Amino acid sequence: MVEIGAGYGRLADLYEGYDRVVLVDPAESQLREAQRRLGRGGRYVYVVGDAYRLPLSTNAFDLALTVRVLHHLSDVPAGFREIHRILRPQGRYVLEYANKRNLKEVLRYLIRRSKRDPFSSQPVEYAPLHFNFHPSYIERGLREARFSVETALAVSSLRLNLFKRVLPGWLLVRADGFLQSPTAPLRLAPSMFLLARAEKEGPASKGLFRCPECGHEELEETGHSLHCSPCGRSWPIEDGLYIFVA
Ligand SMILES: [Zn+2]
Repeated sequence: MVEIGAGYGRLADLYEGYDRVVLVDPAESQLREAQRRLGRGGRYVYVVGDAYRLPLSTNAFDLALTVRVLHHLSDVPAGFREIHRILRPQGRYVLEYANKRNLKEVLRYLIRRSKRDPFSSQPVEYAPLHFNFHPSYIERGLREARFSVETALAVSSLRLNLFKRVLPGWLLVRADGFLQSPTAPLRLAPSMFLLARAEKEGPASKGLFRCPECGHEELEETGHSLHCSPCGRSWPIEDGLYIFVA
């Protein structure tokens, strides 16, 4: 499996069932932190790379995840196409997105406390490189990238100051868990999780890496780097980190 935007590996403890876990992030410092926590070698592979040009083989993964990551992508459809490429046929994609059409924003807009229209389908950039999305924008992007959505969960529906003031945290967590599945079809929670399946055919890949520069998928490992013969680039391996950024 692969987590894209894995940061310091905050979710890695949940990945017990997988033989090989690839953690991708653009920030080397975050992956160093993950490596300190999770150890070198073993089942974890640390990859410094770009979400739009993943240095990973086509048809290689059973599962891909992006949690609190789409939030920072200005071109989500391109991200979806790239994730679809690296998944095996029928591979699964778990994603989370910040929903601009959440109940609180809708109410604020209706009583004119907010000028941001939660019903328009375009993403809203409420701070530099921080985007909230309309559910139809995300689901259209998934369909166009040839994913089909299998399940949805509505998360953090009770993330409101009033509830936080009057109810204990454990009760909010329990209540949130109880609401996640039944309220998901409404798509009104501030955070939505989707499980999608990659519709595609073709043989599964044996390799793991792909040159992000030219797309060649058979890189030669020379000890300290991965060499791509068609384009001549060498991608360094530094203290257990595969580095695919210039
Ligand atoms: Zn190359």
